Amino acid sequence: MDLQNIKDKVDILKVYNELTTEIDLKGSGMKVKVNCFYPDHQNEDNSCVLDRNEGVFYCLECKRVGGVVDMIQAICGVEEEAAMRWISENYNLK
Ligand SMILES: [Zn+2]
Repeated sequence: MDLQNIKDKVDILKVYNELTTEIDLKGSGMKVKVNCFYPDHQNEDNSCVLDRNEGVFYCLECKRVGGVVDMIQAICGVEEEAAMRWISENYNLK
């Protein structure tokens, strides 16, 4: 399982929806703004942009950027290995 494969097959917004109970999403299409999911930057102002085309997120306030794996780590508080396992189990990626 490589990162390009994840980018091609996994929709970052779908993963976000599966891991959170967030319903107040702003925007639509390929770029959607959500609340930042880093524990030390939790806010209610939808400062984090999920770019579905690129499979990345970037927070406009705390300036963190990353991919789906980084997002799972931040939301679930797990290590990279566990995040990768979550993806492979849920998306049948090897
Ligand atoms: Zn942030």
